[in-house]
Amino acid sequence: MVLISGCLIGVNCKYNGKHNLREEILTHFNGENLAPICPEQLGGLTTPRLPAEIQGGDGKDVLHGRAKVVRSDGVDVTEEFIKGANETLKIAKSLGITKAILKAKSPSCGAGKIYDGSFSDIIIDGDGVTTALLKENGIEVYSDEEFSEKI
Ligand code: SF4
Repeated sequence: MVLISGCLIGVNCKYNGKHNLREEILTHFNGENLAPICPEQLGGLTTPRLPAEIQGGDGKDVLHGRAKVVRSDGVDVTEEFIKGANETLKIAKSLGITKAILKAKSPSCGAGKIYDGSFSDIIIDGDGVTTALLKENGIEVYSDEEFSEKI
């Protein structure tokens, strides 16, 4: 079984109430079990919701208290992002999942690249909060963009 960002399979869980459907990934996994998750919803955030970005580092820094996650109106949502990461890890562990394909650049799901916290579409190296926690627990995480290049 593979963990996947719910928005990638068409679930309308994105901050703006829409999705990021990637048909080619669904086609690739035809017949294989996918476990969809949305860490931001699992953390108790509403949909739709204001966008958020990590400020002061990346997801690993958030987990270790060195950075925070902030909404576009300035409200700190670090606690919700950490809760969502922990709930996602709980699901992955309970299902014995060792691999995840998550949405690129998200402050939760991003793998390798995220937005820089300025809400101006600037990309920096780093993982989202959930991705960082999954990696710390030995789960392989690929972004959908990286994965799509391979299939
Ligand atoms: S938190 Fe992850 S699964 Fe949820 S909408 Fe954002 S990118 Fe998609």
